[in-house]
Amino acid sequence: MRTAIEVSGVVQGVGFRPFVHSLASRFGLGGFVRNCTGRVVIEVEGDAPAVDAFVGELRERPPPLARIEAIAWGEVQSRGESEFHIEPSEAREGGAVFISPDVATCADCLRELDDPDDRRFRHPFINCTNCGPRLTIVAGAPYDRERTSMARFAMCEECRREYEDPRDRRFHAQPLCCPRCGPVLSVLDGRGEPIEAIDPIVHVAAALRTGRIVAIKGLGGYHLACDARNESAVGALRARKLREEKPFALMVADLAAADTLAHVSAVERELLVSAARPIVLLRRRDGAPVAGSVAPHDPLLGIMLPYTPLHHLLLREARMPLVMTSGNRCDEPIAHDDGDALERLRGIADLFLVHDRPIHTRCDDSVLRVAGGSAIFLRRSRGYAPLPLQLPVALGEPSLALGGQLKSVIALGEAKRAFLSHHLGDLDHPAAFTAWEQSIARYRDLCRIEPRLLVHDLHPDYASTRWAEAQPFPRLAVQHHHAHFASCLAENGERGPAIGVCFDGTGYGIDGTIWGGEFLVGDLGRVERAAHLLPVPMPGGEQAIRDPWRMAVSYLRAAGEPVEADGALLRAMDRGVNSPLTSSMGRLFDAAAAIVGLRRSATYEGQPAIEMEWLATGAGEEAPYPVDLDGPVIDTRPLIRALARDVREGTPTSRIARRFHATVVEMIAGTCAALRQRGAPRTVTLSGGVFMNAILLEEASRRLEGDGFRVLRHRIVPPNDGGLALGQLAAAAAME
Ligand code: ZN
Ligand code: ZN
Ligand code: FE
Repeated sequence: MRTAIEVSGVVQGVGFRPFVHSLASRFGLGGFVRNCTGRVVIEVEGDAPAVDAFVGELRERPPPLARIEAIAWGEVQSRGESEFHIEPSEAREGGAVFISPDVATCADCLRELDDPDDRRFRHPFINCTNCGPRLTIVAGAPYDRERTSMARFAMCEECRREYEDPRDRRFHAQPLCCPRCGPVLSVLDGRGEPIEAIDPIVHVAAALRTGRIVAIKGLGGYHLACDARNESAVGALRARKLREEKPFALMVADLAAADTLAHVSAVERELLVSAARPIVLLRRRDGAPVAGSVAPHDPLLGIMLPYTPLHHLLLREARMPLVMTSGNRCDEPIAHDDGDALERLRGIADLFLVHDRPIHTRCDDSVLRVAGGSAIFLRRSRGYAPLPLQLPVALGEPSLALGGQLKSVIALGEAKRAFLSHHLGDLDHPAAFTAWEQSIARYRDLCRIEPRLLVHDLHPDYASTRWAEAQPFPRLAVQHHHAHFASCLAENGERGPAIGVCFDGTGYGIDGTIWGGEFLVGDLGRVERAAHLLPVPMPGGEQAIRDPWRMAVSYLRAAGEPVEADGALLRAMDRGVNSPLTSSMGRLFDAAAAIVGLRRSATYEGQPAIEMEWLATGAGEEAPYPVDLDGPVIDTRPLIRALARDVREGTPTSRIARRFHATVVEMIAGTCAALRQRGAPRTVTLSGGVFMNAILLEEASRRLEGDGFRVLRHRIVPPNDGGLALGQLAAAAAME
């Protein structure tokens, strides 16, 4: 009996063919396996029970990194073949291609890394078919060595043998190499001049121990590293990087080291050691031995484990937790090109640890936290992108969704598949915009999707909207919060109808005002604005985002509370000069943070809201402040008055912050209940950047479920603007 099998999904660059080869050999089957663009084609021949068993195994126990999207098989004409072989790849043809994300060093490779008798003992670039760089080294599809940044390294004889041996665990591992034929590490001084170092890792670890700041070339870009326990080193890094207060992420050698710094739950443990190795925000232990300026006042610590052999070697040698922050100044994109990195990081880094394998795709570390027992992404990038996601409705045409302005991610969609890019940063920054534009071209090429429709935000001034307008393609604008709503529905595999609670900082509304505290009712394709926060002026426009005190002035004035502010500002606000109206929940958080006295100005995006959550973390239950939830406009003035009174009376700020959170939960539950009474559905989505707040996400979910609602939340894409592109595609599919 001979059976032909076609498998699609992430099946290339994940050790699929050697796996199939050994499986076929185990069952004594003849035939072949071949990589085609976007899928793997297999034919096996032998006894019927053996063929059935082979198909069963393949479906139920595929190789660990494969993501099988579809598998189809059927009987074909027997050829009397008893040998199994691997056929060469079929090059270009139609159909989407799946490029695997980068994969953390596997246990087998780690064992060899530590084995003095292995020829790859301490080789910083060890990898195999189950691990190593993927997206970041790929230049084109299909995924073959000559289309990666490993093309310039000619394999030595021994590596070639492994590469060609179907029984070897490095068979067709594209980045395969060894100390004789692979990339080489080197150390440069702060001016970029080479330094003589017998062992670069030992040299750099010693420098780190003496408080030096080192730029380290990683998988998707450069990191800046220093001893996380050393206050003056961390302080110097902050000063040089122009990063005032935003917390730094840490890298520690292993789980045991993570345990000494933070409380790690079972779910968090699993995420930390997963092949994606994201940064996980963990609850910091009291007295955790890290410098105060790593994450000032933050009850959480962002921690990740080593994900490249270089990291493993370095962390072991250094024997301390390292700050590992993206190699950039301020909000620029992470440096990944060698010349550019030297240029930009000169003056920040005392030392460079580099190598000669180019990075083709810049890719920041992914960041997530656990809330309500599952992951919530703050940034979905390295280790996850560009794994395809499933759309609940098929797109009529191949489409490109452009995302938002901040935390930009683009998505290419075809039929029911959506490929989300890595994190592309804030398009306000010219360098980020250029990289964004290049990424569009790159992903079109990698996924082999030629879009015929551009989906973008409704905001006329987003760089992505202006770019879309200049393209010779049909366009479709999706309102910002509609896209948030659709994104949450889509990742849950639903089309609605539902109530969409969309809370974020800013989004352009269909009435031209700034939305962000919205209750939408509808489905993927169509929504109505059913309720929203009372709009208030944003004095100074965008400047109000950087200066939360401006929102405090606006809210206090709206609530009839005494305000101390510059007369000119008040007059401008009252006359509506440079004071657009906003219903944003993020701005309400800003106002509350400023009234509480947390801060007058923000040093990074979302800081006031994040600090409100910190303040409320660990505080006991509190009753909500009063709010008026009767009409479609949620009157926040009673809340502001009560909050201001608490501040005047000297109520501890943590209790105020706790009450504020309880009030927002009340707004969600009360408004959803009122909408349901007016005929709205019993399903609620929680989306928008505000739902990165674990207290809100957990308590709102619990409350709504208690009230008989079914709650959909984000687990796969970020609730923030990093998830917009998925929603834009899903909305476009449903609207077509
Ligand atoms: Zn490996
Ligand atoms: Zn070699
Ligand atoms: Fe948003």
